[in-house]
Amino acid sequence: MQQQLVDNYQRRFQYLRLSLTELCNFRCQYCLPDGYKANKAHQFLTLNEISHIADAFSELGVKKIRLTGGEPTLRRDFTEIIALLARYPNINEIAVTTNGSRLESRILEWKNAGLTALNVSVDSFSPLQFAKITGEDKLHQVINGIDKALEVGMKKVKINTVLMKSLNDDLNHYLPWITDRNIDLRFIELMETGEGSAYFNRYHVSGSKIEQQLIEQGWQLMIKDQLAGPAKVYQHDDYQGRIGLIMPYSKNFCQSCNRLRISSTGKLHYCLFGDSAISLRDLLQQADQKEQLKTRVLDSLQIKPETHFLHQHNAGIIQNLSFIGG
Ligand code: SAM
Ligand code: SF4
Repeated sequence: MQQQLVDNYQRRFQYLRLSLTELCNFRCQYCLPDGYKANKAHQFLTLNEISHIADAFSELGVKKIRLTGGEPTLRRDFTEIIALLARYPNINEIAVTTNGSRLESRILEWKNAGLTALNVSVDSFSPLQFAKITGEDKLHQVINGIDKALEVGMKKVKINTVLMKSLNDDLNHYLPWITDRNIDLRFIELMETGEGSAYFNRYHVSGSKIEQQLIEQGWQLMIKDQLAGPAKVYQHDDYQGRIGLIMPYSKNFCQSCNRLRISSTGKLHYCLFGDSAISLRDLLQQADQKEQLKTRVLDSLQIKPETHFLHQHNAGIIQNLSFIGG
């Protein structure tokens, strides 16, 4: 019988978020406000190591892999990585989370290599505000990339928007954007990180404010399938797109946790805000280490905590989300 990734709280994990790099070409205020600073000690996962991860995790029941970072699309071998994952028949979803800066010129190539789902981060549809938040005046480039993705037939396209108090928390700013686009726009509550406490204290706002407005405007909560993650998704007959809310500070958020994470240096993180991570790198070197690798992953899954401690302002070991990918 196939071994499965199930923890002590009967949560099942079929979704892996794999960070490919810490490098980024944006300077988002809440993530890398001073830009990426190279650390020579951090050697990012090689194609060979990524293939051993995919091999072991697909045998452990993982069906979906999301490539993230830093900015994953900056890797020269990004298309090769997609093509490599596409060779595993059990992995039926290959997704990327990107800032969209390379989307327009590369999306067709990525789709042809096997990419099946796309999340693009857009924190504002005002060019000025976008530039202020990300440090880059590239909103038009990113929007052209999203439209190109729809044009080439990408089916699962989502936008991620990190909510920030008084900066970008007006629902009406976003609605015209999804009237005619078949897209999920997901508001993510700002999360506290080691380096981002002051920013968090100033800008965190609960997604419940947006949720209340949606309900007042007649939006309806969609029923989740059993393996869906923690997002709450709303739909409305007047809009082709949907609005999602990811509220890590809400009650019972961790109950529907369905994902594991591997950092760009090969550490397994059971919780985004956990206090520890398990290095897998020594077992990623040879194909014949696969059984040992699977055993380490299964054994250590039992330490996955029931919930994070963000409410107590304990963000764990994460200094910012650029090395683990959110
Ligand atoms: N560079 C890519 C991007 O921005 O889409 C992928 C990596 S980024 C770390 C992944 C996601 O995490 C983005 O949607 C980003 O907005 C989000 N993120 C980063 N820091 C965050 C924070 N402190 N709280 C909430 N979301 C955050
Ligand atoms: Fe870069 Fe993404 Fe972090 Fe923005 S959120 S700085 S795009 S890694």
